[in-house]
Amino acid sequence: LFQIKMDPETDSKLRIGFVGAGNMAFGIAKGIMSGGNILPANVNVSAPSNRNLGRFQEMGISVTNSNTEVVCGSDIVFVAVKPHLVRGVLNQISEYITKRHIVVSVAAGVTLATLEELLPENTVVIRLMPNLPCIVQEGALLFARGSHAKPNDAALVRSLLLRCGLVEEGPEAWLDIHTGLSGSGVAFVYLFAEALAEGAVKMGMPSSLAHSIASQTVLGAGQLLRDSGKHPAQLRSEVCTPGGTTIYGLHTLEQGGLRASTMSAVESATERARELG
Ligand code: NAD
Repeated sequence: LFQIKMDPETDSKLRIGFVGAGNMAFGIAKGIMSGGNILPANVNVSAPSNRNLGRFQEMGISVTNSNTEVVCGSDIVFVAVKPHLVRGVLNQISEYITKRHIVVSVAAGVTLATLEELLPENTVVIRLMPNLPCIVQEGALLFARGSHAKPNDAALVRSLLLRCGLVEEGPEAWLDIHTGLSGSGVAFVYLFAEALAEGAVKMGMPSSLAHSIASQTVLGAGQLLRDSGKHPAQLRSEVCTPGGTTIYGLHTLEQGGLRASTMSAVESATERARELG
């Protein structure tokens, strides 16, 4: 896999731009800058109103209302506006995109073919699907390369995003699956956390304590799962004492069809992402 080393000399000169100043742009900017190799002075953000720009300014990032200014002052441009605005924004910035640029779109459902069609011929384009935990640097990010993006472009983007969470590359067809698994999956996990807490409330625990314990349980289980590298079934069996509490609870979950309904949830969210794309 293409894991290039961060080169402080090169990276400190690399200029990063964000067109759109929402949650995604903020999360990604925070991750990129936490590496310490990108100077805030080399990051630019644009949005039509100043309302969203304050928190970027607080990080020392240059802010403007002009998208073209961001493009002209950047080597890597993140397009982080709502999907229905991408066409208009690309039409506006297209004439300022040059060979040195890498355009990274995070807009859900906007395909590489559409992005390439709206940009000058041979533009290096990457389509990236982040998820919400990017804002706490624990995102799950999957990207696909456009037809003119080389492995070293992907390696550069990957190294920039390393602090945003897990960053993987795959074929474009997987991005919709990633949306179902991880973009929407975050909400599925929240639903599960809420239900865990409500179970405890039903058994008599105060709600606020139940919610903090539920969120810590989800966090701890996730961290152990990731860091141990074990299959979830293995970890699950390690918690199951024969005849103990966990196997009784798991039996109840299986009777409720949790496994099948979770698989169907990923399936329907993926299909919806395909419909919207
Ligand atoms: P958001 O609404 O928080 O931010 C959108 C930003 O775009 C705002 O700052 C807005 O002022 C700005 N904007 C509006 N019109 C503009 C224009 N013409 N030029 C420049 N900026 C303009 O949205 P978000 O949640 O950050 O999502 C941004 C993109 O990220 C979307 O395309 C979405 O599909 C994608 N995405 C979001 C998530 C998520 O979990 N939020 C996950 C994956 C992908």
